[in-house]
Amino acid sequence: MEKRIYFDHNATTPVHEEVLDAMLPYLRDEWGNPSSIHWAGRGPRKAVEDAREQVAAFLNCTPLEIIFTSSGTEGDNLAIKGIAYALRSKGNHIITTKVEHPAVLNTCKYLEKEGFDVTYLGVDANGMLSLDELRESITPKTILITIMYANNETGVIFPIEEIGKIARERGITFHTDAVQAAGKLPLDVTKLNCDLLSISGHKIYAPKGIGALYIRRGVRVVPLIHGGHHERNRRAGTENVAGIVALGKACEIAMRDMDKEVAHIKYLRDKLEKGLMERIPHVRLNGHPEKRIPNTTNLGFDFVEGESLLLNLDMLGIAASSGSACTSGSLEPSHVLVAMGIPPALSHGSVRFSLGRFNTEEDVDYLLEKMPPIVERMRSMSPLWNEAEKKGMFMAIEEK
Ligand SMILES: *Cc1c(COP(=O)(O)O)cnc(C)c1O
Repeated sequence: MEKRIYFDHNATTPVHEEVLDAMLPYLRDEWGNPSSIHWAGRGPRKAVEDAREQVAAFLNCTPLEIIFTSSGTEGDNLAIKGIAYALRSKGNHIITTKVEHPAVLNTCKYLEKEGFDVTYLGVDANGMLSLDELRESITPKTILITIMYANNETGVIFPIEEIGKIARERGITFHTDAVQAAGKLPLDVTKLNCDLLSISGHKIYAPKGIGALYIRRGVRVVPLIHGGHHERNRRAGTENVAGIVALGKACEIAMRDMDKEVAHIKYLRDKLEKGLMERIPHVRLNGHPEKRIPNTTNLGFDFVEGESLLLNLDMLGIAASSGSACTSGSLEPSHVLVAMGIPPALSHGSVRFSLGRFNTEEDVDYLLEKMPPIVERMRSMSPLWNEAEKKGMFMAIEEK
């Protein structure tokens, strides 16, 4: 069997065996509609409500504060548009950052066309935000702050607790996209001071097509999908029972195993990162070295074309990514790396490795063995590299 090594867990994760076992009965036997009052609906209804409790326990909130969605993207849309439309009479200003996932960025861009003003906060070379800049950008018309917990491309963690405090002091609603933080950082919505928080199933070993949005009690959102009275009138449509059960189970497992897993994943990530930096000259880490989720490393390789590097790795059975799955395939440099001020030549040569629960030390060793010769070969074919080597000038060094 051909080798298959997966270092792209920020794009999606495999379904956990325990999650699959938990959800299958709801496709096979308990197929009833949870809204039915007869026997066929009772099992599915209980399963949905049990899963809601599991998600609520994961986020330290009450089950009434959880809405099931079809994805992280839908959760972000419901949070942002739902609050924007609900608070329109109070103001039209939204604050976010330049490095959000497209689910947030493009929702904000859409709202600009609808008459909202959006401030996109920049980040420094390490991908960090300035809280002073955030404070200064608040106006009497600000109704929503939406800032991600952990970045999908670099893994950089934003100080959500402090941001939440600033928002609360000013009476502004605060949403955080916690899709990449889930399972990697503690997610306690009371500690985080957030009013809304979105997560996605397929980033935490549940299947694609299921997510959840926490909406703090008393916070009103305008629904995006109209129909029946599902999800307390906030998200119509017959529930994705099997998906919901899967998400509940995935949250339970994440809570149970997080400490042990984070230690294992961080060890492997650090070994991979250090190993590549030792074996390959002129590599630069994109993103804050410490304030990062434990599974992600984003590395820039001078004079290497990232997409060809990924294809070369793929031929050896190694899956990695050049940024977010949603933007790869396009020749646009990553908006996250651009916001960090990384020159396009270097951002084109950047690769993201995101590790997960089932990676092993052998996976990392295989990469450390196979990747350096590939980079060397690619560089030796680059006229720019040969020129630079002669002159002894390298972007990664110049930048520092
Ligand atoms: C993957 C991702 C999303 C989108 O979640 P989907 O369930 O794939 O729609 C949103 N935000 C971040 C940070 C992500 O990584």
